[in-house]
Amino acid sequence: MKFTTRIAAALAAAALSVSLAACGGDGEGGAGGDTITIGIKFDQPGLGQKVGDGYQGFDVEVAKYVAKEMGYNEDKIVWKESPSPQRENLIMGGQVKLIFATYSITDARKEKVSFAGPYFVAGQDLLVKNDSDITSVEGLKGKKLCSVTGSTSAKKVGEKVPGVQLQEFDTYSKCVDALANGSIDAVTTDDVILAGYAAQDNYKGKLKVVGAPFTEERYGVGMKKGDKDTCEKVNAAIKKMIESGDWKKALDKTVGPSGYKAPEPPSQDACS
Ligand code: GLU
Repeated sequence: MKFTTRIAAALAAAALSVSLAACGGDGEGGAGGDTITIGIKFDQPGLGQKVGDGYQGFDVEVAKYVAKEMGYNEDKIVWKESPSPQRENLIMGGQVKLIFATYSITDARKEKVSFAGPYFVAGQDLLVKNDSDITSVEGLKGKKLCSVTGSTSAKKVGEKVPGVQLQEFDTYSKCVDALANGSIDAVTTDDVILAGYAAQDNYKGKLKVVGAPFTEERYGVGMKKGDKDTCEKVNAAIKKMIESGDWKKALDKTVGPSGYKAPEPPSQDACS
């Protein structure tokens, strides 16, 4: 009897340590040995890109600044790829604490997640071949277009050009490959994302951004719905980054080389 009690106690202790290990990371304190898991894109040059073992881009720079303000040095950040169709699920399932991934603040998404920010404002545009005759969204009738499932881009272009032939992938880099090899006529998403692809060595001189934005995309930091405390911390960090001049420095370093004209920094919405 005594023996079984001891086994039961040992099993309970083992189960406890397993469950503690399982929820390790993303701790509240931050300053200790804990890590924070942050969702970014891995394939969007200038914004969120995995290069070798490192991560580059404006989203990455803002994420690093915010994490630091929350008590997590860069070596405490675990980066998690967060493609557009998966972002809400990654947040709701607790796989990421925060998402910085060209993630537009929308009312529909606010049903499932909360946002801090915005920390950047872009506009939806088109990427075409250099010799294309497409000069605006109206010119898309009868053309083959590509965008990403679950993005505002796919949704809004469908509203703007009803009946447009839209091919959807899960990442923009797949769309850009399809454009370069001639299987589609245009890619649509935010201008700042498209500028990053157009400036890549393998596409330079072959692809161009049309330059006729037709929406406003306010990039927010996604988090669990109702986490007002975290939202306020993130907003305070973004504000500090902007006011210190580090926001502009980060933008010039990451997005600047694409030739994209730096916009004014936005002010942040109240957290709810
Ligand atoms: N900003 C838009 C969105 O959040 C398009 C870019 C993206 O899919 O990341 O849907």
